[in-house]
Amino acid sequence: MKDDFAQFKKLLLTLRGKLVGKVDSMQGEALKKSRQDASGDLSNVPIHMADVGTDNYERDLMIELIENGEEGLRNIDTALEKMDDGSYGVCEICSKKINKERLKAVPYAKLCIDCQREEEIDNG
Ligand SMILES: [Zn+2]
Repeated sequence: MKDDFAQFKKLLLTLRGKLVGKVDSMQGEALKKSRQDASGDLSNVPIHMADVGTDNYERDLMIELIENGEEGLRNIDTALEKMDDGSYGVCEICSKKINKERLKAVPYAKLCIDCQREEEIDNG
């Protein structure tokens, strides 16, 4: 079970490291741009992306996180804390396990898909 989360932890730490370096100076637009010429300059990528599974998946997460700014960073920190105290992958509202596919799409998800939907309905 815990091994399953190891890859998410690694991913979160990688994203966090990049986010911390970029959140101040870089906007989502800039990242989207770098996506187009991604084949070029990789010299400013401090982490070996091959370890985590480079590709669009990670980049899409980064774009979303950068667009969310500080909240994105907070979400990552919260997820990492949850990994330490063992509550990672458990919905904060209904305490059910969050679907693995959902965690793959949103590794810092706090709510299961059902509760997330209800939240969005409440908020909107
Ligand atoms: Zn739930």
